[in-house]
Amino acid sequence: RGDLKRAELRSGDVPAGMPLCMANLMNKLKDSHHLKHGGRMQLGLFLKSCGLTMEESLSFWRDEFQKGSVASDRFDKQYAYSIRHTYGKEGRRKELSCYGCMKIINTTPGPGEHHGCPYKEFSEPRLKQSLSAIGVPAAEVAPIVSLAKENHYQLACGRTFMATNQTDPSEGAIVVTNPAEYFDRARTLRK
Ligand code: SF4
Repeated sequence: RGDLKRAELRSGDVPAGMPLCMANLMNKLKDSHHLKHGGRMQLGLFLKSCGLTMEESLSFWRDEFQKGSVASDRFDKQYAYSIRHTYGKEGRRKELSCYGCMKIINTTPGPGEHHGCPYKEFSEPRLKQSLSAIGVPAAEVAPIVSLAKENHYQLACGRTFMATNQTDPSEGAIVVTNPAEYFDRARTLRK
C-alpha cells in the first residue's frame, strides 16, 4: 500500500504519481479550498485507500476548508459526518473503499464539479495541458489524447502511467482499473 501520510498532503504540491483524476481534484481543492460532494467522495475514498487514518482525513479536510470560508465548527457540523461514515463509524457502519475506474468514468459531473475521469471529461486542449503538467513527454501527449478521443480512457491512463513512470514498453499496454492501485504502483516504482 502507498501509505500516504498527511504531512505529504500539507505541502502546496500534489504528491507525485497520482492519477490525473485525483491530481485534478487535489489541485482544485488547493485552489478553492472546497469541493462539492462528488469530488469529496472520489478524493476522500482514494486518500483513505492510500493509507490516511480517519483522524488524518478529518484534519486534512478541515485544514483545507478552513483556508476557505468554512470555520472549524461548521466543518464539524456539516462535513465531518460523511468522512466518519466512509470509515464505518456512522450510519450502517460499513467501511467504503476507493471507487474503481468504471464507476468514476460512468459519473457525469455537473457545473462546478471536478470529479469524474479527465480522459473522458476534459477538452482536448485541457487534457494536453494537464498531461504536460504531470510530466508526460511531448511525444507521448498526442497518442494519449488519441486514445481518450476514441473512448479508451483506461488505456489512455495506462499509457500516461507508462510515460511518467518509465515502465518497460515490452510489458505491453496497461489498462488502469483503480486509481489507488495506480498510485500504489507508481510509488513503488519511484522508490
Ligand atoms: Fe482515474 Fe481511472 Fe480515469 Fe485513470 S482511468 S484518470 S485512474 S478514473
